[in-house]
Amino acid sequence: MRSVSILGSTGSIGTQTLDVIRKNNDLKVVALAAGTRVEELARQVREFKPELVSVGSEEGAKQLRLLTADMDLKIVYGMEGLTAAAALPGADVVVTAVVGMMGIEPTIAAIKAHKDIALANKETLVTAGHIIMKLARENGVSIYPVDSEHSAIFQCLNGENRSEVQKILLTASGGPFRGRTLKELENVTLNDALKHPNWAMGKKITIDSSTMVNKGLEVMEAQWLFNVPADRVQVVVQPQSIIHSMVQFVDGSIMAQLGSPDMRLPIQYALYYPHRRPLDTKPVDFYELGQITFEKPDMDTFRGLKLAYEAARRGGNIPTALNAANELAVSKFLNEEIKYLDIPEIIEYAMENVEFIDNPTVEQIFATEKTVYEMIESRC
Ligand code: MG
Repeated sequence: MRSVSILGSTGSIGTQTLDVIRKNNDLKVVALAAGTRVEELARQVREFKPELVSVGSEEGAKQLRLLTADMDLKIVYGMEGLTAAAALPGADVVVTAVVGMMGIEPTIAAIKAHKDIALANKETLVTAGHIIMKLARENGVSIYPVDSEHSAIFQCLNGENRSEVQKILLTASGGPFRGRTLKELENVTLNDALKHPNWAMGKKITIDSSTMVNKGLEVMEAQWLFNVPADRVQVVVQPQSIIHSMVQFVDGSIMAQLGSPDMRLPIQYALYYPHRRPLDTKPVDFYELGQITFEKPDMDTFRGLKLAYEAARRGGNIPTALNAANELAVSKFLNEEIKYLDIPEIIEYAMENVEFIDNPTVEQIFATEKTVYEMIESRC
């Protein structure tokens, strides 16, 4: 039986991963890691009986110990705990579903321990793609994308020769503010931004989808996963979220992967690749759907996407600057400390003012994050 370790088990991807595992009933969960939702984690522990569990803090670990006092369970915490869950000897595949740059270290630990990766944490590749992909090659580790677009691209590339790819057509829903002008975005509220038209996701990624920074991060993620430069990754707005992405080959032929917007599909595909399993999702009904439409993204209004292309082009630690600035700006927006359009403003400021480092080490990536945070705090 294949064994799975899930980092970020109480988040949106984590709980859907457990749903896939519950329904298939032939994978063993050996480790779970979560941040602060200790009670939910305790429920997961009772159901899936892992050997090791990691929580965000020492306090959380004590609370979990009390909630699971009758169980034989190893409880760890913090970054050390998260890394232990990633590198646990019994695990075959690690699902990296934590949010943000905290995914870098555990992903590296998992690869060094020769685990395959079901990658849901895009920030890891955005900031440290040059390190992660090299390490995966050296350790003979496969990285299976969980992001719906990248899973689609991965599926379109099945059996194809990667040197015959001309470009990647990365689809985007356009989010809740598609079609709006800059002026109309000035006073949007947190609640407006949290209403994604098609996908049910965590808060951070829902805001990122509304600003299209998420699509920008996905351009960079695609760049690393499929070894294609950003200028050959074209974003196509497709508001129905039925086409999950496409690949165009050198002969002009285009392959697309379609399906209902349900994250359990890419999660299940990553866990069982190269096999497909039945899934109780609502299949696309083309008669009911009627049409699939396409638009060009408005990068003057959704500047986050334009900035992401610029970050991809400049490389080095600039994608880290973009990502760190976005992480902090989004958390400030979620706390209602800044306005919606301050998000791209803050990202641009960080990208313009950070000192460029080519080919950064992991230490330099975290140093860039710290500098960017300080830079933004002293400006706000
Ligand atoms: Mg996506």
